[in-house]
Amino acid sequence: MSTQFKSAMERLKASVRDVPDFPKKGIIFKDITPILANGQLFRLAVTIFAERYQRKSVEKIVAIDARGFIFGGALAHYLGIGLTIVRKKGKLPYTSHHEDYELEYGQGTLEMHVDSVEKHQRVVIIDDLLATGGTAEAAAKLVEQCGGEVVELAFLVELGFLKGRYRLAKYPVFSIINY
Ligand code: AMP
Repeated sequence: MSTQFKSAMERLKASVRDVPDFPKKGIIFKDITPILANGQLFRLAVTIFAERYQRKSVEKIVAIDARGFIFGGALAHYLGIGLTIVRKKGKLPYTSHHEDYELEYGQGTLEMHVDSVEKHQRVVIIDDLLATGGTAEAAAKLVEQCGGEVVELAFLVELGFLKGRYRLAKYPVFSIINY
């Protein structure tokens, strides 16, 4: 890890706020809104992602509902490539693929428009946080249902102790902050 990356990571980590017992008792919610609220930190996070992907021939960013949209939108804009949104059930207007998933504190279904990723298109999937990996795995399966190629899964925060990256062992995983 370069000294520059380490100091950027530490600045970002210092701004993640722990909220105990949200949304359920026993869960420590990692609140990233203080990073969003600080222009320098938000730009720093997006720039780290952008520098990592700008020479990897990435053709589309796939962002996960809902905080993934924030980083995904900024990253797609920075790279000048398209953005696809993966949404929770019932929110997308057009014909969609579906994947059931489980997360640290619940379960649900994710959906993505059938024409939002092209066959063989090189995709980076992004979310704010990796916990058990269930959500990201479902998003990767949605990309694969369209025939897309998952270049990497990217997260601002990884809860390493939940071992989500092992569940995603099939794919490269990148995170900026690790717990
Ligand atoms: P998982 O599928 O278990 O990896 O859960 C990841 C998704 O749930 C991401 O979209 C996160 O935003 C959210 N999430 C899960 N656990 C937490 C947590 N402790 N703090 C903040 N967000 C979380």
